[in-house]
Amino acid sequence: MLTVDEALRLVLEQARPLPAQTVPLEHSLGLVLAEAVTSDVDSPPYDKSIVDGYAVQANDLANGEARLAILEEVVAGGVPSRPVRPGTTTRLMTGAPLPAGADAVVMIEHAEAPLDAGANGHTVLLREPKRIAAGQNVMRRAASVRKGEIVLQPGASIRPIEIGLLAEVGRAAVRVVRRPSVAILPTGNELVPPEQTPGPGQIRNSNGPMLTAAVARAGGAARELPIARDDREQLRRSIAAGLESDVLVLSGGVSAGVMDLVPAVLAELGVRQVFHKLRLKPGKPLWFGVYGPEGEPAPDDGGQRLVFGLPGNPVSSLVCFELFVRPALGRLAGGDGEGLPRVHAKLAREFVHRGDRPTYHPSVLSRGPADTGDRHVEPVTWHGSADLRALAAANALALFPAGSRTHAAGEIVEVLLL
Ligand code: AMP
Ligand code: MG
Repeated sequence: MLTVDEALRLVLEQARPLPAQTVPLEHSLGLVLAEAVTSDVDSPPYDKSIVDGYAVQANDLANGEARLAILEEVVAGGVPSRPVRPGTTTRLMTGAPLPAGADAVVMIEHAEAPLDAGANGHTVLLREPKRIAAGQNVMRRAASVRKGEIVLQPGASIRPIEIGLLAEVGRAAVRVVRRPSVAILPTGNELVPPEQTPGPGQIRNSNGPMLTAAVARAGGAARELPIARDDREQLRRSIAAGLESDVLVLSGGVSAGVMDLVPAVLAELGVRQVFHKLRLKPGKPLWFGVYGPEGEPAPDDGGQRLVFGLPGNPVSSLVCFELFVRPALGRLAGGDGEGLPRVHAKLAREFVHRGDRPTYHPSVLSRGPADTGDRHVEPVTWHGSADLRALAAANALALFPAGSRTHAAGEIVEVLLL
């Protein structure tokens, strides 16, 4: 049986970036840039004051203080009309352009002036405890960005910071790698929607909403299909509908029971199996395959689809999603396909691991009792793959390698942050 690493490699081999498209800036958060972005302006566009204060010739304050005649007041958005010469000053607000002739700004806190000193005809006494130099409190034109300069490269992930920078350089629309569309298909005769009270033998469909949310958080555009019954004909129709998306994520129907029809129906529809089952707990029955033309996805959406058959038990579903679907979505979206962040931590208590599969055990990662900077990880009491409640009490998965043994308190283990 495949290891997690081997299986992930097979998944990522099939996940190539989707075609680029142009989207409005406000829809680009979380996407990956597909062009080099140049600036259409210098930033700042003029030498500007970075404080509220008085524009001066630094030489005027060579003795540490000077009484200067106020020429005018310029606020941000205004433009100076008179050059500053020796013995004169212009009152500036933060962001206002530096007047011609001036080379420094004395902050308002170092000025003694009448409250209404903005107008011509008043004087101000400026005191600088330290010698001022030309350029003090001035941000030079183009200090941050030069017109025509590349400010972002293709492949950059668009965070709020990049949105701000794109706005600064005049980009109301940007070319990005398309967001993957993902269909979620819960399967099972026993499932009822969350708003219903389950009858005898029934349980609620928790995977549908959970996986839809997981897709959204991983940057995909999720669409939850109606629950499919364990019936070949219905599964065939639902799966065919799901194959219209870039990725189809099924839940249930992939283990060894008589009602586990998903792999057979996928094969009938021409979905090519890449692997089924791996050495993993929870999540052993995971199924993965591809559908449609091989190679680069075509811009007309006719590209290859990825199909994941996640085990029905909710914890297995979620763990498989995080280990395999999330990295695949990242790759499709033009990213590096990194999975959950991993850290090492000290086991907070002794833990007995049994079994021949590596286990991702729901756990609580914390700073540790003494807050020494050490990370501590405490496995939570967990009743297995159906125990979603235990996972809700966790913020991490502690990884225990295959093999039965006792892990001592204080032992260092690998932890995945949820
Ligand atoms: P299966 O993989 O279909 O054999 O399902 C394994 C277990 O997961 C069974 O106990 C199912 O009832 C449960 N299960 C399947 N689908 C879901 C779902 N959408 N939400 C919650 N539990 C599910
Ligand atoms: Mg089932």
